[in-house]
Amino acid sequence: MTLLIVAVLTFAFFKARPLWAHAESAQCRARLVTVGGLLKAWRGAHEGNFPADLESLGTLVPSSDPAIWACPSDPRPSSYEYYFPTGGSPAKDAVFVRCHVHGQVCLADGSVPRKAPAKGK
Ligand SMILES: [Zn+2]
Repeated sequence: MTLLIVAVLTFAFFKARPLWAHAESAQCRARLVTVGGLLKAWRGAHEGNFPADLESLGTLVPSSDPAIWACPSDPRPSSYEYYFPTGGSPAKDAVFVRCHVHGQVCLADGSVPRKAPAKGK
């Protein structure tokens, strides 16, 4: 009987992991959508310019949660990779922020595509 319970619990644990991973990926995407909205607001208020760093976007909201600058699957703070555009205005589909863990991106126009573009774009 004990062996059966252990087997069922082990199966449930390994079966549940992908669901947990999916939840974190969805939460990561939601954070990138928030970042994209803040980026649009920033560019609107700053003549189309980009912030010097990602955390500068936090000045737009009264009390921003510091967790939005990091992927929920990455324990490091500010784990999102920020690409500061140099050399003029970037293309609309240039990558602005990328998550190392999930490969999801926020583009320069503030959008977060369902399918991330190929790396290096
Ligand atoms: Zn992520």
